Amino acid sequence: MSTPNAADVLYEYSNKRSFTATTEPKDDAKTTERLHQKHGRPLFVVQEHAASHHHFDLRLEIAGVLRSWAVPKGPATDPAAKRLAVETEDHPIAYADFEGVIPAGQYGAGTVIVWDIGALKNLKKDTLATQYQQGQIAVWLQGKKLRGGYALRHTGFNDNEQNWLLVKMQDEHADARRNPTSTEPHSVKSGKTIKELREAYQE
Ligand code: MN
Repeated sequence: MSTPNAADVLYEYSNKRSFTATTEPKDDAKTTERLHQKHGRPLFVVQEHAASHHHFDLRLEIAGVLRSWAVPKGPATDPAAKRLAVETEDHPIAYADFEGVIPAGQYGAGTVIVWDIGALKNLKKDTLATQYQQGQIAVWLQGKKLRGGYALRHTGFNDNEQNWLLVKMQDEHADARRNPTSTEPHSVKSGKTIKELREAYQE
């Protein structure tokens, strides 16, 4: 297996965006270093994204980029909940710090907040890059809202090639009664909800 070059795998990310129109970041070593010092390395982020379809973006740092999945219902803390996670293009690690409003007409137009962020631990012997390639990823999240083991399993084929399932593992952080995507709506970066952030931009 060859090691992906970050510039190559981020081609799709850059190609979809006009950086004169959106405030979304390009790959940036200084921001990456600051995020690693603050949150740990590797890191994960979950961004709530009120776009044409409201969803949560789960991003895991793997081999120098944020591998990314759009999770329509968001991550659960109940191990019985299997959440569809649709793989999207890789993002630069600096994206983990992004919240703001992506202007109308731009790719992903809508409001983004940093819903949760923290360190990521690999629960298997194989590297995360190998697990990703094999379609079975097991990680331990150390966020403010999400903690404990999560499994991602590639289930899609043919037209559904991008489909994975995200499931909370059974551990001391599993909790069928918690529902943080609705009860803990505030950004861990700004303290604002999606609605509050959008309103702040309009003022
Ligand atoms: Mn998104």
